[in-house]
Amino acid sequence: MAAYSKRHYGVREWRLKKPRQIVEHYAVASSIESIYRTFASDRPDAEFGELPNVCAHFAVSATGRVVQFVPLGIRCRHTVGLNHVAIGIEHVGYSDQDVLGNRRQMRGSIRLTKWLRCRYGIRVPDVIGHNESLSSRFHRELVPALKHQTHGDFRHTSMRRYRRALRDAGRCPSGGRAHLP
Ligand SMILES: [Zn+2]
Repeated sequence: MAAYSKRHYGVREWRLKKPRQIVEHYAVASSIESIYRTFASDRPDAEFGELPNVCAHFAVSATGRVVQFVPLGIRCRHTVGLNHVAIGIEHVGYSDQDVLGNRRQMRGSIRLTKWLRCRYGIRVPDVIGHNESLSSRFHRELVPALKHQTHGDFRHTSMRRYRRALRDAGRCPSGGRAHLP
């Protein structure tokens, strides 16, 4: 990840020191196990042929179960242009609507995202969908062919609904970190 960061951001660093954004994804996969198998293989990824393979910090199952794959202090390859500053959350499902329309999955997802954003002082507008990556003020990419690269998962209209649900989940507790209940 240090070598990846050097190539894409200009600084050799594998640690995620101060997360500034949270990026929501859907995995085009039917289970946590299937997401895990994609990430666990120590082979160059299918899209760019690069190591380390793609990954995300968390995945949320269709029933709202949360699994952590990677410690929060380590960078993960989930969003071109933002891996130096962003925590990545994958969701089981095949579309924005699969996730937004699944009450149990949304409850798990919002609870996780709220906990993370409160822990790191990340504002609701900095919880974005992968498809919103190019308009992020933190976006940085040194490889010319990838400067405008993004994915279709979680478009702006869907993320407006997601952020509304996140706001409805309430403010962060003042004077301290939030804890998962
Ligand atoms: Zn994505």
